[in-house]
Amino acid sequence: MPHDAPLISLLGVGFGLAFIFGWAASRLKLSPIVGYLAAGVIVGPFTPGFVADASLASEVAEVGVILLMFGVGLHFSPKELMSVRAVAAPAALIQIVVMTALGVALGLLMGWSVGGAVVFGLAISVASTVVALRVLQDRRQVQSDKGRLTVGWLVMEDIAMIVVMVLLPTWAQLNTELDGGEMITVLQLQDVGVALAITIAKVIAFAAIMMVVGRRLVPWVLHKVVQSGSRELFRLAVLAVALGVAFLAAGLFGMSLALGALFAGLVMAESELSQEAAQETLPLSDAFAVLFFVSVGMLFDPMILIEHPVPLLATVGLIVILRTVLGYGLLRMLGQPKRASLVITASRSQIGEFSFIIAGLGVSLGLMPAEGRDYLLASSILSICCTPLVSWVADWLAERDKPVEPVLPKIPPATPAHVVLVGYGRVGSLIGGAMERAGVGLAVIETSEELAQKLNDRGIEAFVGNAASIERLREAGIEKADLLVVTVPNGFESGRIVEAARELNPDIIVYARAHSDAEVEYLQKYGANLIISGEQQIADAMISAGMEQLAGRALSPG
Ligand code: AMP
Repeated sequence: MPHDAPLISLLGVGFGLAFIFGWAASRLKLSPIVGYLAAGVIVGPFTPGFVADASLASEVAEVGVILLMFGVGLHFSPKELMSVRAVAAPAALIQIVVMTALGVALGLLMGWSVGGAVVFGLAISVASTVVALRVLQDRRQVQSDKGRLTVGWLVMEDIAMIVVMVLLPTWAQLNTELDGGEMITVLQLQDVGVALAITIAKVIAFAAIMMVVGRRLVPWVLHKVVQSGSRELFRLAVLAVALGVAFLAAGLFGMSLALGALFAGLVMAESELSQEAAQETLPLSDAFAVLFFVSVGMLFDPMILIEHPVPLLATVGLIVILRTVLGYGLLRMLGQPKRASLVITASRSQIGEFSFIIAGLGVSLGLMPAEGRDYLLASSILSICCTPLVSWVADWLAERDKPVEPVLPKIPPATPAHVVLVGYGRVGSLIGGAMERAGVGLAVIETSEELAQKLNDRGIEAFVGNAASIERLREAGIEKADLLVVTVPNGFESGRIVEAARELNPDIIVYARAHSDAEVEYLQKYGANLIISGEQQIADAMISAGMEQLAGRALSPG
């Protein structure tokens, strides 16, 4: 084992095992997250065999959190985030207070000091940003109203925890003095007030600098880099902004890396190049998010399940059941619809990175016993494993609830022709519009929930999901359709859709979109009848216009 290259060992073994277990989990219809966690347990110090460097793993995991939050920032404007504060702020605050109180009760029952119990309570009051966002990403809901509210809620929690981190050391000091029988003096209370004021001032100063300077500077720099024509430099610029701003936010302003990265994303979102930037960071962000889960898994000591099952189960119960029910109740009280409340709370039914930070701080300050951190780590793993199950229950409840909501009638098309259109983006919307005007019966399959909802609102039958799924194709009526038009930009993805559609309806006529010869060949193999290659069409149009132009010039006298 190359002990002198801990980073390479971590990446090699971590990615390798995460891939194998993630793949196995998805074959078992579990979330791949469960597989990544299992991979972490295997490379962790509590199981025999290879042991990865834990501190390195947690630092690499932090990069995952930064890139993820940066990606979230890129998709939102500050205005959108502000628009959800009326719900997100009270929901976050009330949940933190109630869950902390419940955690304190459990901590006291376990015989800890008030300080230790408070740290424990705070740690179980906040959800994991990474897991919640992954759940929404898998469901392609980050940019929906639910996604915006979830992100708003996570940001509020993030801010609350930064304040907690600043106050904990002072409170630890007060706590020891109180235990020693000393009285709190007005001076000490003033210290707390000053510390709090400085933190708030720092956060405001950072936000102001980002919004005033960063908002102009970052898009300008990106624009200049794009003009240089180097893709590599553009990619580098995006990464430099994401990681650089996060680092500055943490180093100079005492904020969390995650919040700093979110701000970096928010200012970059102002640039029209933000979509490019998101594309550039996505693969890296996915890879590092996997390492985040591996590093969480590494912290898990399976012995705790045997040695202290009762307190552990009580903690998991508090997080997964009580906090979810409380969150749902809060959202309903704040006027959110039932289905959205279910989805949002289900995605947040676990604890993660912030809980570890708070727990680590609590232990190092001597407030909480080390076993508290073990419970939190173990309950984090168990609650993350439960998240897909909770989401499944929430979906089931939402599904049951469906009939009471206005459902769009699924009327068979007026004309005998039935077209299934996959994708309603730049290409699909043009085709759909034409079909609609021609009065053709149309069913759309779209992965974007927002787009599908808009179509449904307009009275067009639209189904949310991946069109490669047999169920989606069936719902859209592929079996009786005459034509399938696949406008998905990735030809290889289209191939899978065409293959599935052919299975259900061997006679259907299929049109598909491609961008390269390899894609055209692939689609032909799967039986598409007409394949339009965008690039070829553009070239043809330019060639014929160019030839005409040149011919005209040759003929014109002089
Ligand atoms: P555009 O490239 O602008 O024509 O957009 C393509 C559209 O296809 C987007 O709106 C995507 O959400 C949608 N899309 C991409 N992949 C799939 C898929 N597998 N199933 C259904 N819709 C998809």
